[in-house]
Amino acid sequence: MKPAPFEYHAPTEVAEAVRLLASYGEDARPLAGGQSLVPLLNLRLARPKAIVDLNRIESLAYHRLEGDVLVVGALCRQRDLERDRSVLERCAAVADAVPLIGHLGIRNRGTVVGSLAHADPAAEWPVLAMLFDAILVAVGPGGRREIPAARFFQGAFSTALDPGELLVEARFPLPPPSAGTAFVEVARRHGDFALGAAAAVVDGDDVRLALGGFDSVPLRVAPDPDAAPAAVHPVDDIHAPAAYRRKLAGALAKRALDLARERAR
Ligand SMILES: Cc1cc2nc3c(=O)[nH]c(=O)nc-3n(C[C@H](O)[C@H](O)[C@H](O)COP(=O)(O)OP(=O)(O)OC[C@H]3O[C@@H](n4cnc5c(N)ncnc54)[C@H](O)[C@@H]3O)c2cc1C
Repeated sequence: MKPAPFEYHAPTEVAEAVRLLASYGEDARPLAGGQSLVPLLNLRLARPKAIVDLNRIESLAYHRLEGDVLVVGALCRQRDLERDRSVLERCAAVADAVPLIGHLGIRNRGTVVGSLAHADPAAEWPVLAMLFDAILVAVGPGGRREIPAARFFQGAFSTALDPGELLVEARFPLPPPSAGTAFVEVARRHGDFALGAAAAVVDGDDVRLALGGFDSVPLRVAPDPDAAPAAVHPVDDIHAPAAYRRKLAGALAKRALDLARERAR
């Protein structure tokens, strides 16, 4: 399949990208790694008038640890984090989650921020964003604003971004190194989207649980495996019946919390 015709822009500065996006409004889409957008274009499920390619904006290609905050620019590839020992050693849940995302070639191109912007209910990064209370930084014609993860995900593939707004950075406040963190999921085959996922933090009295793949958005729920099945609202689909997914929520919640507790020092 070939995409419908579109106008193509490759700005080198954020301000130029924002100007272009704002000029097209809902008719333009930013292109990051293209691992979700290009299939949508090729299947003509997305037919934007214009593509604003972010790949030449070098100022967005970074990630760093700022104290306890993992800061990820919009052109940081998922593989960049997977290859950074300082990040993997600092946060076990990230080290658990990233290799579960698709396959190596997908992580080589696909960006962390693109995954957040795409807001697939079964994707790994949105669950981590909910677990760590991430802050998503958007720049639009009206300036810069910070959106907490809890307000960012509004539905399946739907976010709080306004037309013309670009996500430039995601900030993940990590718990202290003494905390235990974990990310677990069940997928039919390695690299498939998860049927369900759970991520946990255990840091003394601060115990957190996030679930993905069960509802249209990732959820923060009470850190109680017995309560997890009632906290999710799955529907029957071609992959699994809702009753299976509810049971899975409880099982994965227990696995994630047990592993995080075991890792806490
Ligand atoms: C075979 C296959 C398997 C996969 N398996 C998984 C998986 O198991 N788990 C998983 O999480 N993902 C999976 N993915 C998706 C992959 O992780 C994508 O890379 C990711 O979802 C999107 O990142 P991207 O950089 O490729 O974004 P793109 O495809 O370029 O963009 C995705 C969407 O986000 C928008 N966007 C991108 N960047 C920005 C920005 N900075 N600001 C605003 N909007 C933006 C685009 O306009 C588009 O609507 C898979 C993909 C494939 C092809």
